Amino acid sequence: MIMKHIVFSDVHGNLEALHAAFSFIKGYPDARICSLGDIVGYGANPKECIWEVSKTVHESLAGNHDHAVIGLTSIRYFNPYARAAVIWTSKCLDEEDKSYLLGLPVYKRLNNKIFVVHSSPLEPEQWHYIMSIDDAKRNFAFFKERLCFIGHSHVPMVIGLSPDGKVFLENYEIIQLKEENRYIINVGSIGQPRDGDWRACLVLYDDESRLIEFKRLEYEVSATQAKILEAGLPGILAERLLYGR
Ligand code: ZN
Repeated sequence: MIMKHIVFSDVHGNLEALHAAFSFIKGYPDARICSLGDIVGYGANPKECIWEVSKTVHESLAGNHDHAVIGLTSIRYFNPYARAAVIWTSKCLDEEDKSYLLGLPVYKRLNNKIFVVHSSPLEPEQWHYIMSIDDAKRNFAFFKERLCFIGHSHVPMVIGLSPDGKVFLENYEIIQLKEENRYIINVGSIGQPRDGDWRACLVLYDDESRLIEFKRLEYEVSATQAKILEAGLPGILAERLLYGR
């Protein structure tokens, strides 16, 4: 019987941030570890991140950047920096790395209570963003479990649905889930947070107490930035890490 889950997303080739997450994870040897995708893209260590995630997690999903580097999704709608990073990343990866990414599902049911997906329960491979209460409202109809963990927007948040159909936002570091409600939980991003906080973000969920905890973990951003610049990736990808935007 698994009580604790650690769920993270959007590592984006940031090895220093991933290591910070792994040191946290070491403190929970019995937890079930789940990666919601976008292991690569933006950062300078895609290969190392694929390798370490594949060795460490119990469940691993694919995101849009993972699909883009193996040609499964178009990069036409990516912004120029993301596109440059996809092309750079694709050149770094060998066949083994790519076949690992190719084998990842885009969504999964962890048990009868938890659904996990990179983007959204509605059309997971269309890579829709859930950014508002209205976006979330539509999505509750597309999974049947009580909880759905997502990533993709790099913005941590919890949106709940009460039995009488009310949809509400909860933005706290620790959230006590109520048994009667259903929830969509965005776990934020390990490697490129966009909520104004530069620290790596992950979620610890206790199935028994129904507590959601967002953990923020410091790492050496300057080392990550130096690698991005050295790799010849767009400078903005280094710069933004410090602002968490
Ligand atoms: Zn992402």
